[in-house]
Amino acid sequence: MAPSKVFAGARVVLPTGIVDGGRVIIDGARIAGSAPTETETVDLSGHWLVPGFVDMHNHGGGGASFTSGTVEEVLQGVHTHRLHGTTTVVASTVTGDMHGLAERAGLLSELAEQGDIAGIHFEGPFISPCRKGAHSEELLRDPDPAEVRKLIDAARGRAKMVTLATELPGGIDSVRLLAEHGVIAAIGHTDATYEQTQEAIDAGATVATHLFNAMPALGHRAPGPIAALLEDERITVELINDGTHLHPASLQLAFHHAGADRVAFITDAMDAAGFGDGRYMLGPLEVEVADGVARLVEGGSIAGSTLTLDRAFQRAVTVDRLPVEGVVAALSANPARLLGVYDKVGSLEPGKDADLVVLDADFGLKGVMRKGEWVVDPQLG
Ligand SMILES: [Zn+2]
Repeated sequence: MAPSKVFAGARVVLPTGIVDGGRVIIDGARIAGSAPTETETVDLSGHWLVPGFVDMHNHGGGGASFTSGTVEEVLQGVHTHRLHGTTTVVASTVTGDMHGLAERAGLLSELAEQGDIAGIHFEGPFISPCRKGAHSEELLRDPDPAEVRKLIDAARGRAKMVTLATELPGGIDSVRLLAEHGVIAAIGHTDATYEQTQEAIDAGATVATHLFNAMPALGHRAPGPIAALLEDERITVELINDGTHLHPASLQLAFHHAGADRVAFITDAMDAAGFGDGRYMLGPLEVEVADGVARLVEGGSIAGSTLTLDRAFQRAVTVDRLPVEGVVAALSANPARLLGVYDKVGSLEPGKDADLVVLDADFGLKGVMRKGEWVVDPQLG
């Protein structure tokens, strides 16, 4: 077995705050409380040491789709995001027919059992045709609890989240069903009013799927879902910080209003993340990626992002000027808590997996460790 490691000299971001010159001890695959005798010390002076990122909304990367790729392709997508610091990822599907989605859930649940992914997020088909974004309209359906149940059963305990338009017929009952089964009910791709959104939160919804995107704008007499989601302490808001999905002012407004404990930065990435421009398929729809921006060929809707969480981190602290501790929480602890895996990942604390990210002084990614193994070796000599 490899000797244990002590990372010394970095600015370490812990749940309690930033520690200058802090020490983090790795023993095998875990973070340890104290150093055993045979120890290699790694000098991380001039660097940041933060927990591995947790992405709860991600459709693929590295040229591979979590909705349609083979097992090898899905793993390639997972690996691509690991190279960018995401050590825990939930695989998100896009709208498909019910049979296809159930089959997909079977394949992805095996990968979740093996620990390759942290679970499955079904985005659609229970979403609003008015706010469909890059989902096929003809495959959309109302959220019938019996059908929702079929999907989560097909995921064999590995369904983590379902995004739905809760104002549709059956929406509130579906939220209750999800909450009863320990699956996150996420409000999104929705045309709900302020009051309808409050009703869904009261029924047990806990996440806002990419707040601002695919929902009515904040109006002065019709505040809509955005106000209801931002003001309610029971809701965590997902934000896509790629500079395309949200104006920096909107992002900052949401971050400051919800507070750092109620934000989860997500990628909503599609195949082109970590891969390049070109033509891709998102479910059955064709997407053109140009200059890193993914749009439907037909209609031009934004179709997911090409974001990776290391870029989301760097933008948040350098462009948006958000506090580092808050950004770290939004990238690790908050999503880990929601997914029910905070006992294993999401912070640099003894007993947890040795999942960590090394950043340089400008917040550029230098190293990624997952379960004690380097995915990206910072080569610090
Ligand atoms: Zn998505």
